[in-house]
Amino acid sequence: MLTAMTNHHKVVIIGSGPAGLTAALYTARANLAPLVIEGFQAGGQLMLTTEVENFPGFVDGVMGPELMDTMRKQAERFGTTYLSQDVTDVDFTVRPFKIVAGDELYTADTVIVSTGAAAKTLGLENERRLMGRGVSTCATCDGAFFRDQELAVAGGGDSAMEEATFLTRFASKVNVIHRREALRASKIMQDRARANPKIDFHWNSAIDDVLGEQSVTGLKLKDTMTGEGRELPLKGLFVAIGHTPNTELFKNKLELDEAGYLIVGDKLKSDWAPGSPLATRTNVEGIFGAGDVVDHIYRQAVTAAGMGCQAAMDAERWLESQGE
Ligand code: NAP
Repeated sequence: MLTAMTNHHKVVIIGSGPAGLTAALYTARANLAPLVIEGFQAGGQLMLTTEVENFPGFVDGVMGPELMDTMRKQAERFGTTYLSQDVTDVDFTVRPFKIVAGDELYTADTVIVSTGAAAKTLGLENERRLMGRGVSTCATCDGAFFRDQELAVAGGGDSAMEEATFLTRFASKVNVIHRREALRASKIMQDRARANPKIDFHWNSAIDDVLGEQSVTGLKLKDTMTGEGRELPLKGLFVAIGHTPNTELFKNKLELDEAGYLIVGDKLKSDWAPGSPLATRTNVEGIFGAGDVVDHIYRQAVTAAGMGCQAAMDAERWLESQGE
């Protein structure tokens, strides 16, 4: 990697969901002129949602993309700049830290990693082949294409209940396919889905294959208790089985847990400042982490934003301690 001081920033934020944009707002207001490398899929997972009713401050709710656009503009107002490229490489072994994005090298005194998480898939060949042709991981993006048609949602967590309930706005019927007999979803989400007359539950059912040539025509299901197979004719499959953290780029560079989530603060095994008040510090001094890339428990826009604020304040304090 070359040194390119023209592309030097005190703060570089990788990722532009609620965590990254809140970190940008705080570091921008601290006059640190952050660069947000927002990626080609800017805005994070809220870009794939419709109405957000649980982000404080919006009595009547707000559309996910609108919320992200507002956050982006708010951070921009105080001096944040944006780069619509994906980061392809990082070198965190020396300072200034090096980040490659869109064939350019960027250097930074401190980096905030807020790359979020992405939807998991079942890993079936035909699921991959028919992605976008009846298979989707985002009901809010693709649900409207399936007006008056029969659909399936894979999964038994909150995401599956949310997707299934949302899809009943369009679909004639929604089949929830779950591999066990008990749902993982919270009671309120379960109750809402169970009370919906358009939703049917298929318990102990694994999806063995997705059927269809040009588009989805059905699913091949297997009873996980008896091994018995059957086919379910329908037009679309929405996969809602959880998420994977976007940390491929940081493997062997930052400390990650078994599931690939970024480890921060007191949970670090190789901590450079044990007991430090910098709760979002990673194992590399000067690199901080925030949002869904760290948090596999709460995963809310408001908790991600809160952590983004913490990471910004931590980065600011750390820069001060370095005399920068
Ligand atoms: P999750 O809670 O991890 O649930 C994933 C579901 O998919 C589980 O039911 C799991 O089955 C199933 N699954 C996983 N891998 C599978 C595979 N290979 N084949 C078949 N089924 C598979 O994920 P989530 O529903 O995305 O929720 C993640 C977090 O976000 C949770 O904390 C949740 O509360 C939160 N969330 C909240 C809201 C809300 O409040 N509005 C909405 C969405 C998500 P098993 O149960 O058998 O493991």
